[in-house]
Parts: sequence; C-alpha cells; structure tokens
Amino acid sequence: MDYQSWLRDAAEQLRDSESPRRDAGILLEYVTGRARTFILAFGETPLTAEELTRLQVLLARRQRGEPVAHLTGVREFWSLPLYVSPATLIPRPDTECLVEQALARMPAGRCRVLDLGTGSGAIALALASERPDSEITAVDRMPDAVALAVRNAERLAMGNVRVLQSDWFSALAGQRFDMIVSNPPYIDENDPHLAQGDVRFEPRSALVADDGGMADIVRIIDRSPQALTPGGFLLLEHGWRQGAAVREAFVQAGYCDVETCRDYGGNERITLGRIA
Ligand code: GLN
Repeated sequence: MDYQSWLRDAAEQLRDSESPRRDAGILLEYVTGRARTFILAFGETPLTAEELTRLQVLLARRQRGEPVAHLTGVREFWSLPLYVSPATLIPRPDTECLVEQALARMPAGRCRVLDLGTGSGAIALALASERPDSEITAVDRMPDAVALAVRNAERLAMGNVRVLQSDWFSALAGQRFDMIVSNPPYIDENDPHLAQGDVRFEPRSALVADDGGMADIVRIIDRSPQALTPGGFLLLEHGWRQGAAVREAFVQAGYCDVETCRDYGGNERITLGRIA
C-alpha cells in the first residue's frame, strides 16, 4: 500500500468526520514523519508494515471520534507547535482573534499580562512569542493543565512566561496587570454542541459554565478591575450569542470603550474593554 492509496481509503473511512482528507493527511504525516509536500510529490512511496499497523490503529480511534490532535499530541496555534492532551481544550483558530486584538492593545515596553485558565498555554505563549519584552503570567486551576502549559513554555523556550496554579485570581492577591485575557468556559450545559465532534473528548471544566454559560465570564469581568493598572484592558472570548450580555457586564463593572470583535466565521466572539 502506498501513501496515495492509503490516503484515499482512509478519507473514505473517515467520511463522517468534518474533514476526512485533512485528518487522514495529518495522521500520515505523523506516522511517516514526512512533510505534506513530500507526501504529495511522492505519493507512490510504499508504507512499511509497521507504519501501516500504526495507521490502522489511529484510523480506528479517529473513527470512534477521538480528536486528531489527541492522536498526534500536537496542534498548531499562532504558528507555534503546542503539545495538547485530554486535560485541556484543544486550541481553536478562533482564539487567534483574541491574540490579534490583545497584541494591538499591549502597551510598549515591559507589559504585564495575565492569562486566566490558560489550558495548554496557547494564548500566553502566542503573546510571549510576539512580545518577548512582556511578562506573562498564565494560570489554571487544574494541575494537569499547569503541567502541560509548563511543558509548552519549555519546549518553545519562552522565558517570559510563568505558569501558576490558581483558581481564577485565588493565587494572585494584590498583583496588578496591564492586560487580562481569557478564554473561559462559556457553554451552557444543555447545549447540543457538547454532544458532537471533538468537544466530547475535551474536559467539561474547560467548556461548561453555570448560568447558561455566563457564570465564569461574569466572575472574571467583576473581579478584573481591581487586578488591572489604570488604562488596563480585559479581553474575553465568549459564545456567539453572548455578545450583548457580555458588553452589558463590562459596562456594569466600569469598563469604557467596550467593543466586540467577530471570529473568522463572522460571529461575535471577543469582547474587550478598558479601565479608565
Ligand atoms: N469555542 C469552543 C467551542 O465551541 C468553546 C471554547 C470555550 O468554552 N472556551 O467548542
């Protein structure tokens, strides 16, 4: 069996996935260690017996719904290769919108940023990679997430990121930041979205929040002003139907210049505000 024929068969077997061809391609790159361009150019390369066995095992797991990122243990975010595990959310492209908006507002010089609920460390590491002069604090309540974020920071040699275990602000008493960013859990526990696709294999603690998904968002908005320096920003990712409620909570908590940005799918996804 060669690369090309395996890809064709595998894509057919993965037809229930949203991206059969892409999934198959990633698994083939992972097992053969070959770049996409090599696989495309030399499609007649035969698979070894060992490669074929490994691919069959991964294909069967993917058919049962396991996310491709869990099978390979990596996912790219902001062009950074990140380790991922079932302990945290798999970084999403839409969260790159949050990174873009944050970078556009980070003050020059030594800027202190806090990433709440960092998971794999995706947002913190993306900001750190663009702004080596900044000081980034990344916190998570879950020890497994903290360990994963530390591993990612070490792999990428990001010396300006410190990772702490903290339940939102619990370990940060008295500390102040120039910017706070977060992709908190914001899905309602009854959302049918939770029964489909990759989210079934991701931790509930990273996805679901009380009060129709608003509980953690509101907690962060209400507590952030006392952890921000004057002029500091809060930027939050939220659900596509939560924009109006989130803006209202920002205004109630005393933020000014409150605005919402859309994700790549055109949905309201990131809301931000400034403390005067
Ligand atoms: N946007 C993610 C999803 O829809 C959820 C991310 C989150 O809850 N923070 O699967």
